[in-house]
Amino acid sequence: MHLAWEPEDEAFRSELIAFLDEHAPSETRAQRDFAGEDAGEDLIPKWARDWQATLFDHGWMIPGYPPELGGRNCTPVQTLVYLEEMTSRGIPRSLHFPGYAIVAPSLLEFGNEDQKLLAPAAIRGDTIWCIGMSEPNAGSDLAALSTRADVHDDHFVVNGQKVWTSYATHSQMCCCYVRTNPDVAKHKGISLLIVPMDTPGIEVRPLRHISGSDGFAEVFFTDVVVPRENLVGGLDDGWRLTQGSLAHERAGLWVEGVARLEQSIDGLVELAKRRGVAADPIVRRRIAEGYQRAASLSALGYKGFTSFAQGTSAPEHSYMKMATSELGKALYELGMEIQGPYGPVTDVDRGEEHGRWVNSFFVSFANTIAGGSSEIQRNIIAQRVLKLPRG
Ligand SMILES: Cc1cc2nc3c(=O)[nH]c(=O)nc-3n(C[C@H](O)[C@H](O)[C@H](O)COP(=O)(O)OP(=O)(O)OC[C@H]3O[C@@H](n4cnc5c(N)ncnc54)[C@H](O)[C@@H]3O)c2cc1C
Repeated sequence: MHLAWEPEDEAFRSELIAFLDEHAPSETRAQRDFAGEDAGEDLIPKWARDWQATLFDHGWMIPGYPPELGGRNCTPVQTLVYLEEMTSRGIPRSLHFPGYAIVAPSLLEFGNEDQKLLAPAAIRGDTIWCIGMSEPNAGSDLAALSTRADVHDDHFVVNGQKVWTSYATHSQMCCCYVRTNPDVAKHKGISLLIVPMDTPGIEVRPLRHISGSDGFAEVFFTDVVVPRENLVGGLDDGWRLTQGSLAHERAGLWVEGVARLEQSIDGLVELAKRRGVAADPIVRRRIAEGYQRAASLSALGYKGFTSFAQGTSAPEHSYMKMATSELGKALYELGMEIQGPYGPVTDVDRGEEHGRWVNSFFVSFANTIAGGSSEIQRNIIAQRVLKLPRG
């Protein structure tokens, strides 16, 4: 069997490569070695904001969207070409994914005409958004959320607390899930509000990742007044919206996950050669196993993408998220082992390869939790894909 891209898809790739050669800033290369979107001290540096705006203005931010939304109406297959090319070169579209990857698609799908107008700035990165779902007692069990919004004639009054809110320290806007009806089944009393982060009564307290950056925060709401027109979708209809938002998040994640694995395996081969253990049978076997698993995941990702592109659901994506994040963790740990005594040195100036393996290992734990933990993904696969009975 011979698999090849159509000529128009190759032409699309050439146009993209020419654009990247001319416009991609040198800083994008520096991101490729690390496991997450963690940009260090400055969470969303100026070069990354400028790059996201450049992509938008040239129709390369979300190529499947129309030009007014930062795209060029390309086909799903061309979107795949785009993602492959970007990830294989280690070029991030943005260092701030909630706005373009979750908020904008949700506003376009569920928002009213005024709310849809907020999408272009979210995709271009002009407005920074955070997503307030998780709470101290509502993470995996999101429907248990208790941040309350009392309903008045023309406004809501919000009280409660969110936690692990990524980018909250830098955000202008929050997509905040609140309980608007405590008297019905817990999935049925949730609503989604758009909350400007400078509204009186909001307090953001940064939380530090193990890697040191303040990538997320606790957000406290005390008598925060939100206008009625900031309700997205219907009152008490928020649960349906949470499902939609997460589906958007998962559809394209696997390409980046697999590319990161492939880059890690290349890095492990180089590392093993440098450290003189490339002939060690145990090291060889473990790298080969990683390679084999990454190649299987890549094949499975394409299969899922085919279903997605044809408009049917792709249960493979639940597995991809879990499998790529878990394999990543194992590969980074192997990198630390091969480095021997340098393995756990986090100091980028003293460690080998600027602490690449240990810092990626730290970030990899977050990848197995954010957007639904590995255990929850396993539950979903067992129940919805394999149709196993509940335990
Ligand atoms: C880097 C990062 C960024 C994040 N960004 C955001 C954000 O922007 N906005 C936001 O709202 N949230 C965000 N989160 C929070 C994330 O969605 C939650 O951490 C996640 O849903 C898990 O919830 P929890 O931390 O409360 O853990 P819990 O739900 O308390 O789970 C604790 C442990 O129990 C396991 N567990 C729970 N229930 C089950 C079950 N039924 N079966 C088997 N095992 C189970 C879990 O897998 C986990 O290991 C982020 C998290 C991380 C790590």
